[in-house]
Amino acid sequence: MRWIVEGEGNSLDELIQKLNRSIDSESVAIQNTLVQMLRINAVNPRMGGPGEEERADFLEDLLRHEGFSVKRVDIKDTGTGRTRPNLSTRLEGREPRNLWFVAHLDTVPVGSRSLWKTDPFAPLIRDGKIIARGAEDNGQSLVSSLFALRELKRLDVRLPFNVGIWLVSDEEFGSEYGIKHLLSHGHFRRDDLVVVPDSGTPDGADIEIAEKGLLWFKVTVLGKQVHASVPSKGANAHRIGISLTADLDKTLHKKYREEDTLFRETRSTFEPTMVEANVANVNTIPGVDVSYFDCRVLPVYDLSDVISDVKKRISVYEKKYRVRIHLEVIQSDSAGPATSNKSDVSTLLAKAIKRTLGRQPNFIGIGGLTVGNLFRKKGIPTAVWSTIDEVAHEPNEYCRIRNLINDTKVFAALPLVA
Ligand SMILES: [Zn+2]
Repeated sequence: MRWIVEGEGNSLDELIQKLNRSIDSESVAIQNTLVQMLRINAVNPRMGGPGEEERADFLEDLLRHEGFSVKRVDIKDTGTGRTRPNLSTRLEGREPRNLWFVAHLDTVPVGSRSLWKTDPFAPLIRDGKIIARGAEDNGQSLVSSLFALRELKRLDVRLPFNVGIWLVSDEEFGSEYGIKHLLSHGHFRRDDLVVVPDSGTPDGADIEIAEKGLLWFKVTVLGKQVHASVPSKGANAHRIGISLTADLDKTLHKKYREEDTLFRETRSTFEPTMVEANVANVNTIPGVDVSYFDCRVLPVYDLSDVISDVKKRISVYEKKYRVRIHLEVIQSDSAGPATSNKSDVSTLLAKAIKRTLGRQPNFIGIGGLTVGNLFRKKGIPTAVWSTIDEVAHEPNEYCRIRNLINDTKVFAALPLVA
């Protein structure tokens, strides 16, 4: 790979210094934009909020004012009657492929208002922080991406490829009206480079390039309830349940044992978690036993194989104890293939972080699922990164101004550093 950036006789170092000076001098404007945006309530309408439209209008105006042409994909949400906006703009580069920063417009509700020390929709600047609902998730990165693009525009260099942003709806409620729609309607290319700045760490040292598949299932054993003094007349659902749970625990761990050191939990995990209450007194044999598993499965495995193994063990127990056992898959989200740490998006982001923040980032995998996975499932290499204190969804959510500015520098440097 060889990207050449043409600035008028500027070395890369000079270009990046110029960029960083300019971003520093725009610090107040960047903060103000975030504050103004956070004043607009954009709680996801599926969670009882007004939705993303007003916030999208504000950002569209801002982009047009800066001379960008804006593509807008508005989708009618039949459930809430709201329009769900998605905005995009980009700078043209020499190659047709795109580098996209994808950030989301919506937020979760404020939660318990009494836990907030300040008004969640009246952003407050204090101690180097901006405090408001959505300040971290995803306001900080949205504004960082937007200003990175504006700075690249002002720098007026020829970019190696197109560089753009997508500001999307509905991330907090499944992305049906955001990324999922855009992916299924051809708005992204297989050779695009995607950065999703919607997860991160306080030191900005981890680039997330892989996620585990998520499987939640519920097992209901239907035995026969009797008095505890005559167990042979009944079928103790609890005994069958705990025995089956132990069996599944052992079987799944044994079969899906591959290790991947990218992940802190290097293996797939299969955890028996919740158990529902059964009988109310000690001297009754429970006729029903309900228990749950939380499984996080490495991307090399197929979740349908895990489910079919669970079914096989269940049928063994049904025959052995002559009872009915019901399996319900509550959630099943497979993981897309991990993005290689050698892919363009991984190496460019790592270089931009190294140059801007002066540290060599690690590549990691995580046990949860982000929208980065939706891109990976379509075969699009995707890196998830930002510098945040991880206070998303909490009361008194905030972002650090230092992170807002530094991440803007990293994003702006990304297309320049190859
Ligand atoms: Zn988010």
